Amino acid sequence: MADSERMMQKLFDAVEECKDSILAAERYIWNNAETGFREWKSHEYMKEQFLRLGYEISEAGDIPGFYADVDTGRPGPKIGIFAELDALLIPDHPQKNPETGAVHACGHNCQCAAMVGVAAALKAEGALDGLSGSVRLFVVPAEELIEIGYRKELIEKGILHYFGGKQEFLYRGYVDGVDIAMQVHTGGKRFGMECGGNGCVSKQYTFIGKASHGANPAAGLNALYAATNAMNMVNAIREQFGEDSRLRFHPIITKGGEAVNVIPAEVVVESYMRGGNVASIKKANDKANRAFASAAAGMGCRLYISDKIGYCPRIENAALQEPFFEMARRFFSPEQIRENRPWSTGCTDMGDLSVLMPTIIAYTPCSSKAGHTKDFVVEDPVSACVTNAKMQLGWLVRLMENDAEYSKKAIAEAELPYKTKEEFFAAMEELSFEGEAVSYNEDGSICIKYKN
Ligand SMILES: [Zn+2]
Ligand SMILES: [Zn+2]
Repeated sequence: MADSERMMQKLFDAVEECKDSILAAERYIWNNAETGFREWKSHEYMKEQFLRLGYEISEAGDIPGFYADVDTGRPGPKIGIFAELDALLIPDHPQKNPETGAVHACGHNCQCAAMVGVAAALKAEGALDGLSGSVRLFVVPAEELIEIGYRKELIEKGILHYFGGKQEFLYRGYVDGVDIAMQVHTGGKRFGMECGGNGCVSKQYTFIGKASHGANPAAGLNALYAATNAMNMVNAIREQFGEDSRLRFHPIITKGGEAVNVIPAEVVVESYMRGGNVASIKKANDKANRAFASAAAGMGCRLYISDKIGYCPRIENAALQEPFFEMARRFFSPEQIRENRPWSTGCTDMGDLSVLMPTIIAYTPCSSKAGHTKDFVVEDPVSACVTNAKMQLGWLVRLMENDAEYSKKAIAEAELPYKTKEEFFAAMEELSFEGEAVSYNEDGSICIKYKN
């Protein structure tokens, strides 16, 4: 048996040995689902697992999440592996957590379960023999971009700086010195990877009109009409989005009026502007804001725009994907593997890491039911958690064997848009805007401001 085969087998055997604790973690975190920045029970559970395995962990403290290092003692790149703690809110899901209303409807519980296996195997005797460099295991909060109001409160309290858990970890320096980022998310029936994914701006528009009796609309100013006109106007300018089919604008009205016999005085519209690169997101976002501002101006309403960076468009590192496909071929039949690598129009804060270091996300077979719906369940916990852990470890061997030659090459050849996290955050701030968009002047002119 070749050396690397022996190294892998040792790790796979270690995963088999702790199979029960992996599957127990899958169930515990499923049953105790919590949404982003509230994942304290899941945090405590994962912390216990790491301490039991003999790890020293660094906790974020004021938010859930931590990281732990494994060092081979030989020089080489530091590889970051990420497992997400947070769940979704799907109120009609039959298995939602009755206390929190949350449910792991895209399988983040499986990420944590696989992390238990990876952490255990890396502590097995002789696990690091023949490997170079180090591994940082991250248990991170809040990937799903939801409950924005709650996160804004945390920002106002000075606890949080960004909406996403990985962004926040990045900002706090927990990712400093990490050279590569990897995550395995649960997928559909087949294993697969993507060529990249969308990023987004998270948007909130508040229209202010004037209330009046519903029977006397002339005395009021209907903010709902301004909002519906604004949405129609964006629909009209969609054709100006041009050839970029990756753009997505999908507004909802989160406040539409108080009572049917009152003319609505305040209406709130929320949306993302999603796109494949920062420049096209910015261009389309400016157009949408201009349309909203002019619709407000047309009605004589006020408009407050709050744009905050969502997640950065994701770059997938093709070189780092290869050894993961190799692992998938080892564990799955050809029918269980999707070889093509489509673009994802979804957004994740793995994108924020991917512009600073070579990054990949693999999707492991898990469920035939659609994610983010009331039907999602983990159908195949062994594939989603146990095989998942083995694939991650086999991939690590490929990256860290032979003096970490493979990962060094991937790092040297990666083309990344930002050199430092400071440069990245500054560029992202350009997507933010906060302020009153329409002002009415004495001389009858109207001033519209919708970007910085
Ligand atoms: Zn999700
Ligand atoms: Zn997810």
